[in-house]
Amino acid sequence: MEQRVFGSLGAVPVLGQGTWQMEEDDQASAVRALQVGLELGMTHVDTAELYGYGEVEELVGEALAGRRDEVFLVSKVMPNNATYEGTLKACEQSLKRLRTDRLDCYLLHWPGPHPLEETVRAFERLRSDGKIRAWGVSNFDVDDLEEVLAIAGPGRLACNQVLYHLRERHIEHRVLPWCERHGVAVVGYSPYGSGDFPEPGSPDGRVLAEVARAHGATPRQVALRFLTRRHSVFAIPKASLEAHTRDNAAAERLRLTQEDLARLEEAFPPGPVRRQLPVV
Ligand code: NAP
Repeated sequence: MEQRVFGSLGAVPVLGQGTWQMEEDDQASAVRALQVGLELGMTHVDTAELYGYGEVEELVGEALAGRRDEVFLVSKVMPNNATYEGTLKACEQSLKRLRTDRLDCYLLHWPGPHPLEETVRAFERLRSDGKIRAWGVSNFDVDDLEEVLAIAGPGRLACNQVLYHLRERHIEHRVLPWCERHGVAVVGYSPYGSGDFPEPGSPDGRVLAEVARAHGATPRQVALRFLTRRHSVFAIPKASLEAHTRDNAAAERLRLTQEDLARLEEAFPPGPVRRQLPVV
């Protein structure tokens, strides 16, 4: 699996695995899908204390048992818990559910009610205690990112995890360039639009299907490759079915041409700048 520089953390696979709503799926199938993903090199695993209120972290802990060292493990603190003490406590609970002694990256799930200084101070404490290797944020717009930078200083913020799919390219206007300027990895979440993937019958879906057909690939593989065409971007599709995981991992082999990229650019325009960063 192709690797890319992830903030100050070194190389991380460009394609990872999401886990949102896995508690609603067949558990054995989801665990199997995650394990197959690891075998295929999708070792960046994204979860959160919010997902199934801890159930998904437990499922991830089961899937990773005995393989922790292969994995780049990410979890998130809920904004309501993100006081200094609350963040330390939430992290301990996530580590327990995940059956590990450390996270590779710990994120604030979205900007919340507590002062960012407190969350950052807790993240730094967790880092110096060896409970996390690095920290980042999620759903942060440029103003929020500037605030983190002012609090933490340069080189601390590892990533910003944001909504990014073919029909939702808003981050390309300001967030993505800001992150690239500051060496912050961009993790695109819901790369398939979280259930709203372009159908081959729709005008944009037709273009996607044509590009895919020309490469003997699937439309989802084309989507993943388009979204990760810039070197700062990672994608974390979620799959609870092994066949889906295999399809996603195989996207790594696909190489889109300049002509493909131009066609996709036209079919899925980034749209105008909006005031608010879109979230799921
Ligand atoms: P997504 O990855 O855009 O789409 C997941 C859906 O696509 C599932 O129904 C899955 O089915 C299906 N799928 C996956 N691979 C497929 C394939 N090759 N062919 C056909 N269908 C396929 O949705 P998401 O879960 O919203 O986003 C991905 C991850 O991003 C999340 O799981 C989570 O880790 C993260 N996320 C973060 C935030 C945040 O606020 N930071 C918000 C949303 C999501 P099966 O499951 O049945 O295989």
